[in-house]
Amino acid sequence: MRFLNQSTITDKRVIVRTDFNVSLNPDHTIANDIRIKMALPSLKYLLANKNKLILISHLGSPKKYDSALSLSGVAKDLQGLLPNSKITLVKDFRKEAHLFASQNSDEILLLENIRFYKEEYKNSLSFARELAFLADTYVNDAFSVSHRIHASIVALPKLLPSFGGLLLLKEITALRRLLDNPKKPFVSVVGGAKTATKIKLLEKLLKLSDYLLLGGGLANTFLKAGGSEVGQSLYDRSALKQARHLMLKQGAKKAQVILPTDAVVKTGKNQCALKETYDIEPGDKILDIGPVTRLEFSRFLQDASTIVWNGPMGYFEDPNYQKGTAAIFEAIAQNPHAFSVVGGGETLASLKTKKHLDHISHISTGGGAMLAFLAEGTLPGIKALS
Ligand code: ADP
Ligand code: MG
Repeated sequence: MRFLNQSTITDKRVIVRTDFNVSLNPDHTIANDIRIKMALPSLKYLLANKNKLILISHLGSPKKYDSALSLSGVAKDLQGLLPNSKITLVKDFRKEAHLFASQNSDEILLLENIRFYKEEYKNSLSFARELAFLADTYVNDAFSVSHRIHASIVALPKLLPSFGGLLLLKEITALRRLLDNPKKPFVSVVGGAKTATKIKLLEKLLKLSDYLLLGGGLANTFLKAGGSEVGQSLYDRSALKQARHLMLKQGAKKAQVILPTDAVVKTGKNQCALKETYDIEPGDKILDIGPVTRLEFSRFLQDASTIVWNGPMGYFEDPNYQKGTAAIFEAIAQNPHAFSVVGGGETLASLKTKKHLDHISHISTGGGAMLAFLAEGTLPGIKALS
């Protein structure tokens, strides 16, 4: 497969699949345009080579047209970031052929939310063909959606000469460093809620890393699978069997799995308490890792040369239960020698207000896409480029 920087694409009509899936305020204005900013290197690179750009993105997961999920706000924001180009939002590319015919090289056409078309979700080849007619080259710069088998990600690159964008390249390069000969000791930290969606990742990390530290609701699932009382705690019933399996395999693999030994719990009487994880009562709810576990996990991270972290250590949305998640971040930020990768929707949300985010080597734009890439070594949208 080829990336943008390994080719000279000039004077072409280029479709760029970007990820403009920005977070929105309740009044539908843009809360954070970091995703738009991350697309700029590829866009500027292509513009400098006199290409005419046609941008495709989704926003949310609409079933049909929904004005709240229009890309009109994105178009405005992008206009501010690229003042030398004229950004035009194409409401329906099927009905506005004249816009493509008259496009100047200083004009960027942004197609309206591609998920307004149900064919996108179905990976429809005929829909992809309609898109392919608009351009003569395709670039995928949307790592975070590349695990989706959707028309603009998988079908479309099969119809046009295709390239990976600069953001896609950055993601692949960083994640490959975890998969190919990572420096030891390699410490993985996994938490969060949905254990079932992370089993494949855990299987992979069990082979790759030296220590696998588990926290959050995911650790509750493992505690429960091991026969411990977890009371009213969040755990994933559907993943108990796989969790038990994984613990049994442990010896045959490489990594040592480390579970929390203490926890911050909300008791049946609605009080906050510290407890050993073997001492949980039926009315208790484990909502964070405890101070001993924080210290233990931090020591592993201090000595690590390679680190990957996905998933909060507790219910961090409530300030009473955010110390565990904060401690993991601090430990990673304070290890200047390690190559560190952090990703996940809520994991990144938990870091929003942190200083020293630049002490992390790579912050992945992909939640599900990062998990899938680490588990499989590639993604459907990446495979489709070669
Ligand atoms: P990510 O998006 O980073 O991959 P997940 O989606 O798997 O993470 O899970 C994040 C959610 O898990 C957060 O909203 C957090 O509140 C919740 N969570 C983590 N640990 C606990 C816990 N012990 N009890 C309840 N919720 C938890
Ligand atoms: Mg999530």
